[in-house]
Amino acid sequence: MAPPSAKCRIYSCDFKIQFGTTAGKDQHRSSENLFLPSKRGECFGTIFAEIIKSVGLQVPDDPFRYSSRVCDKCARKVRNLGHIYGEVKSSLEVQNNN
Ligand SMILES: [Zn+2]
Repeated sequence: MAPPSAKCRIYSCDFKIQFGTTAGKDQHRSSENLFLPSKRGECFGTIFAEIIKSVGLQVPDDPFRYSSRVCDKCARKVRNLGHIYGEVKSSLEVQNNN
């Protein structure tokens, strides 16, 4: 059986791209580790698990049970989630201080 990290943590989509039975080499979709700082330019140093925790959700770090990786699409969703949460939070804080 494939290890949990062969799939996206959020959508469970497979990282391995199938090319039929004659494919010699496996190709993989790009993905991000949730618990390590990102090496991508646009989000360099971002730890996705920290964003998820900052909005109040739990992300157990247990690679034997759960994937520690997300696909690019879900990584973008997590970044947007953190961004939207931050915007709403800061605007409500301004209102609450008035
Ligand atoms: Zn995904």
